Amino acid sequence: MLIKNARFVVTPKGIEKNKSIVIEDSIIDSITSSTADLDKTGDVIDGSGSIIMPGLINAHTHAAMTLFRGYGDDTPLHEWLEKKIFPVEEKLKPKDIYWGSLLAIIEMIKSGTTCFNDMYYFMSEVAKAVEKTGIRAVLSRGLMDTDGRGGERLKEAVSEMKEWSGKPRIEWMFGPHAIYTCSEDFLLRIKDLAEKYDRRIHIHLSETKKEVKDCLREHEKRPAEYLDDIGFLSDRVVAAHCCWLNNNEIKILSRNGVSVVYNPISNMKLASGIAPVFEMMKKKVQVCLGTDGAASNNNLDMFEEMKVASLLQKISIKDTTALKATDTIMLATLNGAKALGVNSGSIEEGKNADIILLDLKNPVLRPLHNKERIISDLVYSTPSLAVNTVIIDGKLIMQNKKILTIDEKEIYEKVEECARELFG
Ligand SMILES: [Zn+2]
Repeated sequence: MLIKNARFVVTPKGIEKNKSIVIEDSIIDSITSSTADLDKTGDVIDGSGSIIMPGLINAHTHAAMTLFRGYGDDTPLHEWLEKKIFPVEEKLKPKDIYWGSLLAIIEMIKSGTTCFNDMYYFMSEVAKAVEKTGIRAVLSRGLMDTDGRGGERLKEAVSEMKEWSGKPRIEWMFGPHAIYTCSEDFLLRIKDLAEKYDRRIHIHLSETKKEVKDCLREHEKRPAEYLDDIGFLSDRVVAAHCCWLNNNEIKILSRNGVSVVYNPISNMKLASGIAPVFEMMKKKVQVCLGTDGAASNNNLDMFEEMKVASLLQKISIKDTTALKATDTIMLATLNGAKALGVNSGSIEEGKNADIILLDLKNPVLRPLHNKERIISDLVYSTPSLAVNTVIIDGKLIMQNKKILTIDEKEIYEKVEECARELFG
């Protein structure tokens, strides 16, 4: 495939003008100024009216929770969880996870996300949705053992991982839900399995003040200190939220090479807290970005997430230079790829061809007189509606806003059926 004469290309070196990108199979083969001697037998996409950038990476979500969008909003956190979310989650069947995940994937592709990191259950259903749509994903079965059913879940996680191993675009992690739903023994068992199978670990950490308070009462340590003391932390760990870290915990995460997923919109909506991202970045913690599930966001738009990510840091520390646009875009692309261990997140030779094209015929991307402003536009004017074409793993997945791999209408109908059964 050839993307010809791209007007602007976002690369790690900065914005490049009038370049062509050659894709061989699934990989970016070259980025060139001249297309004269190229073999043009594959698909040719005209990039002259576009900004070309790496696809966004949503590093923490629960895709099928799109079914819960708008359900029980604006209620106190514990009432929302215990009276709204948990009772309906009890009723979820595999088909709900399949159709809910497809709905999430439509939304993600349309808003420029090419890879997501998912934690939920019935993960084979999520894998089927990923396989069908052509998106890239890292999947983990949520694990907890406080109800005595940890072993059963762990067995399921390993068998799903083995069943899908080697399938293109799908990676697996282990997904211990959180320190308050997993015992110490269970966490250590998961850590050993992650080492045995050479997988990463996706966990929620320090999301709320209550989690810290309960951990101090039970272990006389804060959550990251506790995980460090039991030997759980390493560069395999991807920790979502981390709203309530003190300086010592930031140092602990940095020393262990833990990646942190910042979920600003979910954290604001659930009134959880503000992750100390600026401090973490100063201490060289690798921070990436996620939306969390649609029940607490309520969308999966990573452009919107980037804008809020930056603004929340600025107001939180009263400093306009906090989380600059150039840093924010890294959170949503390359840092996410590094955290998840996927060879994507930047437009460079040898990387996965996970690329999006934004249509310059869009008011939020104008004027174009200064190319240095483009990163600011991408972060602060939130142009997910400008996403026009999406390429994942070297394949054209969306062109002129039409997703080529699925029948959207069928998915919307099935989602309505599932929602009617779940909510009455
Ligand atoms: Zn979550």
